[in-house]
Amino acid sequence: MNRKPDHFVLRVDPILCDGFGHCHELAPELVQVDEWGYPIIHEELTSMTELTLLKSARLAVRGCPRQALRIERTNGPA
Ligand code: SF4
Repeated sequence: MNRKPDHFVLRVDPILCDGFGHCHELAPELVQVDEWGYPIIHEELTSMTELTLLKSARLAVRGCPRQALRIERTNGPA
């Protein structure tokens, strides 16, 4: 039986991204920006129980003007 995803990670589509770094303002805990303003995403899986971080991730996804961000849900280490 498949486990329900219990972790998430934020993903960016670099082709769509405009590099203005709005996502960093919305979710600074999960997104840093490089010297050109392009996002550097926190790559480690975050537990779904980290509700503050999940909320920030959702905020960044909704606030991205290019729809370049998505939340990938996955299973963490068993
Ligand atoms: S908000 Fe979206 S388009 Fe802007 S830098 Fe972040 S991922 Fe790229």
